[in-house]
Amino acid sequence: MSGTEHPIHLSDDPRIGNILLTEEQLTSRIAELGAQITEDYAGRNPLLVCVLRGAYAFATDLCFAINLPIELDFIAVSSYGATTRTSGVVRLVKDLDVDLTDRDVILVEDIVDTGLTLRYLRRSLEARGPASLEVCTLLAREAADLEGLGVRYVGFTIGGDFVVGYGLDANEKYRNLRYLAVFDSSDTEVR
Ligand code: 5GP
Repeated sequence: MSGTEHPIHLSDDPRIGNILLTEEQLTSRIAELGAQITEDYAGRNPLLVCVLRGAYAFATDLCFAINLPIELDFIAVSSYGATTRTSGVVRLVKDLDVDLTDRDVILVEDIVDTGLTLRYLRRSLEARGPASLEVCTLLAREAADLEGLGVRYVGFTIGGDFVVGYGLDANEKYRNLRYLAVFDSSDTEVR
């Protein structure tokens, strides 16, 4: 599967549009993020918290790009009545196994859109007494107020298009693309 073409099973899927970020672009930016985190957390043992399910691919590659003794845990949230835009109510679906007390936590997100999910997660994790809590997101919308959300690491800033691939889905499909593509959600309700 090449980094600049759709795989054969998607070649006639009319909802899949342009490739927004190729595998090569993702790999090289994630190497930079990993190097930055390695420098910022030198001598420490950060705990990466991957937000399921969208961030699983990013978190995997980010872990490999960090040259420190990291730990990894998972949390899952969902929003009620979701469409392509989040609905406003976030619910914890799977909690962490690890105790966050005095830990240096890096929350790993797929995309910050309205910031609602992140606001909810920050509140929930901050209440558990970590030594520090930073956010690393693969994508952020241009319109998102990242400063207000305390996002320290951003892979790419993107416009308003709905995107799929590299862990991000539309109705649970397309997660297994190695790149990010624009998805036309105009005639489907996307969850
Ligand atoms: P927020 O709470 O910031 O509005 O939304 C964050 C969540 O909405 C993301 O974690 C993701 O699950 C979903 N989301 C927002 N934009 C997109 C997108 O373009 N593609 C996909 N697949 N999910 C998105």
